[in-house]
Amino acid sequence: MFYDEVKVNFKAGKGGDGCFSFRRAKYEPKGGPDGGDGGRGGDVYIEGDTNVADLTDFHFKPGWKAKNGEPGRGRDQHGANGADLILKLPVGTVVVDRDSGDPIAEVMEHGERVLLLEGGEGGKGNAQFKSSTNQAPRQFTLGKPAEEGDFRLIIKTIADVGLIGFPNAGKSTLLNMITNAHPKTGAYPFTTIFPTVGVLEYPEQYERITVADIPGLIEGASENRGLGHRFLKHVERCKVLIIMLDMEGTDGRDPLGDYKVLINELKLYMPGLARKPELICANKMDEPNAAENLKLFQKKVKEKVYPISCVSDEGFEDLKQAMLAEVLKLRALEEEEEDENSE
Ligand code: GDP
Ligand code: MG
Repeated sequence: MFYDEVKVNFKAGKGGDGCFSFRRAKYEPKGGPDGGDGGRGGDVYIEGDTNVADLTDFHFKPGWKAKNGEPGRGRDQHGANGADLILKLPVGTVVVDRDSGDPIAEVMEHGERVLLLEGGEGGKGNAQFKSSTNQAPRQFTLGKPAEEGDFRLIIKTIADVGLIGFPNAGKSTLLNMITNAHPKTGAYPFTTIFPTVGVLEYPEQYERITVADIPGLIEGASENRGLGHRFLKHVERCKVLIIMLDMEGTDGRDPLGDYKVLINELKLYMPGLARKPELICANKMDEPNAAENLKLFQKKVKEKVYPISCVSDEGFEDLKQAMLAEVLKLRALEEEEEDENSE
């Protein structure tokens, strides 16, 4: 089982209490105050780690806590600080506040570390309150409480290109053929339960892009019916989408109807998604009715369609070049934006 969404509770460490103490020495019956400060509570950090594949650890153990600071002691001894807790998460994980539903942090790269919860300050020992007018202070303070929170961790796939389509359109087959990834394929729905990301190389151009097979998008996905909604979230992070259609219309499917449903689901799920560049890919062109269906389709939909066949190995080159062109365009745009922001 692959866990891509879990509920958790994280807690930073509480500050150690300040100490109340007076020095006791043989010939000094009333020594000065010597209560030390409490230690700081540990912070909670999240860190992106490509070696962590999913959220299984958090499914089985949802509660995590940083160490408390130790209380101060007599003889002016400072309590030890509580150790920080560094939680390693898969790259692409978003932390959502469970009360507000707002995303509050994310780790997008290996080694990226974000402070999530702060530990409490340690309390002050009574030695700190000594002054010229108060030689025997009786006050000290308690350690501060730590931050705590109920969160939802969600992995969102990051890929340049996302393959969208009804089950059995041939998404996994295409990914198998053009990238280094090898998702399972099969003539039944939901063979894939989690997106597979593959790398597509362009040796002649010295380029590479990542392609994700987004599984099981079904009608009503945006209303959270069936499995769809959980998968749609993976689409958010893709730069370019490929709408993949079974142009043969296997098992009574209607390519034009499928196309409309897919576009509509994407719009409903997230209005911004509809503005992503889309490439329409007509698969299964080796089948007897595909060519005729494509003609009918193009009468209604004027956008360019990339016809391919994963069986007779046709049309890949045009599709691959179109994918690269779109991704490079967007990368250039992103770089421009980054430059503007850094000015
Ligand atoms: P997914 O659900 O979109 O990932 O679809 P799969 O890649 O698992 O493919 C579903 C079925 O369609 C499998 O039996 C594939 O062998 C078959 N298939 C995929 N591409 C083609 C194609 O170009 N032509 C034909 N005839 N069958 C295909
Ligand atoms: Mg599949």
